[in-house]
Amino acid sequence: MESNSLFNKLSSRLEELSNLPKLDEEVSISKLVEEKGFSRREFMTWAGAMTSMLMLPASFTPLVAKAAELADRLPLVWLHMAECTGCSESLLRTATPSIDSLIFDYISLEYHETLMAAAGWQAEENLEHAIEKYKGRYILMVEGGIPHGQSDYFLTIGAHGKTGEQSAKDASQNAAAIFAIGTCSSFGGVQAAAPNPTNATALSNVTNRPVINVPGCPPSESNIVGTLFHFILYGTLPALDVYNRPKWAYGLRIHDACERRGRFDAGEFVEEFGDEGAKNGFCLYKVGCKGPYTFNNCSKQKFNQGTSWPIQAGHGCMGCSEPDFWDKMGIVHEPLGDRLYHTTFGGLGADATADKIGVGILTVTAIGIAAHAAISLVKKPKE
Ligand code: SF4
Ligand code: SF4
Repeated sequence: MESNSLFNKLSSRLEELSNLPKLDEEVSISKLVEEKGFSRREFMTWAGAMTSMLMLPASFTPLVAKAAELADRLPLVWLHMAECTGCSESLLRTATPSIDSLIFDYISLEYHETLMAAAGWQAEENLEHAIEKYKGRYILMVEGGIPHGQSDYFLTIGAHGKTGEQSAKDASQNAAAIFAIGTCSSFGGVQAAAPNPTNATALSNVTNRPVINVPGCPPSESNIVGTLFHFILYGTLPALDVYNRPKWAYGLRIHDACERRGRFDAGEFVEEFGDEGAKNGFCLYKVGCKGPYTFNNCSKQKFNQGTSWPIQAGHGCMGCSEPDFWDKMGIVHEPLGDRLYHTTFGGLGADATADKIGVGILTVTAIGIAAHAAISLVKKPKE
């Protein structure tokens, strides 16, 4: 779409949203930003970064800033299933608040078990009330894998003994958009690792509504907030990859944008944690980095207010945003090499997947991976 017509389309969408009532008259994003010690300039810098993350031209920055102002028009229901709450933590547990985390203070979080004051019967009532009152209008975010089928009782919530599976189904029914936040909700995650005694599964397997997956263990706060903003701006679902992940966030492999990529291409590898190669920032492939098989934008968005990410800190990627990563990306500290595993591309293996998805830009990588897999076979055993 031409930049001008897209600009007009997004402007009209925001105009429509601005006609909806504010859910909390007392709060405004500019007031919140000021109270937390951010200047208008910092807010606009953040809006600029969000604009570029969503792959929009810089001239769209005022629209993104306006979307932030209107973020409280869309109520959010956040359900917890079987998980560690790491995805919520990714967003909220910040030493110093980021503007991303402020957005979560600002939006109308109608239901979030770990954040709301209500408990017991009242919490259940709040959920039912929010779903009824904002029918067709609320955004549903679900964190955690979902025990289902004959084993659904492994996750039983509240005084009425409702299963997580039933809650997820009920809440999905009338949501305006549904996002599976984190790998557990997107693909089953650690909960679904073999032998999976609770029969935990992805949200998309328990509802017939379309689900957008925002995987990661955890996903970065930017990917969670960016997903919300995409919906605020467009009112439609983003372009998705084969695993229903938004392409703007999961379109590139970790390996494609890795700061150690030059070392990989030069054949400079860490052979063992703590060796000279590790001290010199060499590539972590031979100590198990799964970056060549993993689609995510961690190298660009980073974690902890953008200060660092696993590969920068010296540990390889574990492939946490891929389906069944827990079972299929192991052993953590060994390269996959040319090991074959089942993928949606017909069980051809991760290298074949990478080849098919990015054949134009990845030819060198594919050759490199094959060569380095061969090298890893002659890797010296640890002392
Ligand atoms: S193998 Fe891992 S550390 Fe090496 S370049 Fe690729 S993503 Fe980076
Ligand atoms: S670097 Fe890899 S394991 Fe770490 S968060 Fe990103 S995708 Fe997950």
